[in-house]
Amino acid sequence: MPEYPEMQALAERLVDFAAGSPLAGISILSFSSLASAVPPYDDLIGCTVSGAHARGKYLMVDTTSSNGEPGVRLIVHLSQAGRLVFEPQAKTTKPRGALARFRFEDGRAVLFREFGTERKAKWWVVPAGEPGPTADLGPDVEDRGTRDFILTAEDGARLYTVLRDQHKIAGIGRGYTDDICHRAGLSPFATLSALDQSQRVALADAIEVTIRDALALERQRSGGLPDKLGDRFRVHRRAGEPCPHPDCDDTLERVSFSGYELVYCPTCQTDGKQLADRRLSRLLK
Ligand SMILES: [Zn+2]
Repeated sequence: MPEYPEMQALAERLVDFAAGSPLAGISILSFSSLASAVPPYDDLIGCTVSGAHARGKYLMVDTTSSNGEPGVRLIVHLSQAGRLVFEPQAKTTKPRGALARFRFEDGRAVLFREFGTERKAKWWVVPAGEPGPTADLGPDVEDRGTRDFILTAEDGARLYTVLRDQHKIAGIGRGYTDDICHRAGLSPFATLSALDQSQRVALADAIEVTIRDALALERQRSGGLPDKLGDRFRVHRRAGEPCPHPDCDDTLERVSFSGYELVYCPTCQTDGKQLADRRLSRLLK
């Protein structure tokens, strides 16, 4: 799933691609993807993209209306498999999974589509500056509020849960959670409230470095966001490979859940202990 770094870099590319030409039309190719009713989505027509940024895993696109006033805001959530395709010349095809096509007066278009079978990618049109579905998110992962939360919160949940809870910290999913816990040298099953101050600092630093490095990597992409996002993680999806820590010669291990897995290094993160693999232990019963 695209997380904050993918979405922030995508927002920057979208501004480069779309700014300067008013929206000429919107073809809705799947009505169920439109999650808002008021204001009407076609209030976007005639508006020009004036800026975009990620809020958590959401893409927030701001516009200027034809009279120069702030226009309505477009919000996009890609979920697991939603993608944006930049079309230098707007196409008229309706590819599999197509949700909506936003056409600009200069002939360009942005196609919003979702590959796979889930139907979770959504878009909203909200009044200028309104948060829409992002109203109850925690601080963005790059905000100071995230560091403050990690350093002070008395939260009894496991790190693997806390880091992915969008109401506590917005923008991290399973991928960067694995990388952050590994970089911090902490078990994903440790609880935040049980960490001492140096561990909390290590965790806050790991979040900053992981997201900063990921954003730098994402900024090397061009165009929209492809189906396959590529090998961009240090440990996530790398079970069985050598631990990337320069002083460690252990092998990365996994804990499997239905439909996903978390990856960790026993030496770096769990004092050499193997975390119970629930799927494996069920199979062995
Ligand atoms: Zn290691």
